[in-house]
Amino acid sequence: MCDKSTIKGLRAKGMWSYILIAGKKHDAFGGGFSYHTGPLKPERLFAAGNTEYDYQEITVELACLDLEGVLIPEIWIAFAEKTGIEELRATTRDIPDYDVLMKQRLRLLDEHGYGLPQIQEVIGELDPLPGASEFLDWLRERFQVVILSDTFYEFAMPLMAKLGFPTLLCHKLEVADNGQITNYLLRQRDPKRQSVRAFQLLNYRVIAAGDSYNDTTMLSQAEAGILFHAPQNVIEEFPQFPAVHTFDDLKQQFLKASSVHNA
Ligand SMILES: [Mg+2]
Repeated sequence: MCDKSTIKGLRAKGMWSYILIAGKKHDAFGGGFSYHTGPLKPERLFAAGNTEYDYQEITVELACLDLEGVLIPEIWIAFAEKTGIEELRATTRDIPDYDVLMKQRLRLLDEHGYGLPQIQEVIGELDPLPGASEFLDWLRERFQVVILSDTFYEFAMPLMAKLGFPTLLCHKLEVADNGQITNYLLRQRDPKRQSVRAFQLLNYRVIAAGDSYNDTTMLSQAEAGILFHAPQNVIEEFPQFPAVHTFDDLKQQFLKASSVHNA
């Protein structure tokens, strides 16, 4: 067995990185050894699980985008136009409380006998907003991009296909066998803000853009928030965020907010 005096002797010979056990050389800092036999190189400290190891952390920029009203049309408005159900035109722009809005939507669908297949048929005919696909490509060349939406995977997928399936964090629907939408299942409360918070814990610096009330906590939580295509009442209520209306201006705002890219 190797004792401390042996190690001391080895250190004196400049062999402090190893200890000898039964004539075999072992890494002194490998698993199973709780003591150190000499001044440690940083990589050795790290390997030994020393939490005081002083390594460099980096921050990477992440772009978080709202979906409806930014990259694709408002799905409920498109559905209202197709079916003629006027009350389905309401969005978070009109009713800031999302639960009140969704309960109203599901009640209206039930009353008119519409289920998921009819809604998906309409969504399948929609296209991303003009210029949205090119903008998303531009953004993804410069930032990691995550789409944070209050829509549902069941609704969004036909349009995600047309955008090249960018990463989407949203909600789910509960659908009965006959296609009736029986409930909506939120991933969590205040999901856009919680997502930004989580990314920040992972050392991402977040630049976010959205168009509506349900984006404002995300924009506030982010290091930089941008209003895009927002209605006048939202722009006036949240004057702290720059407000732009074209994809060219949105690009400039992302560059301006970036600590890596320059406008
Ligand atoms: Mg929106």
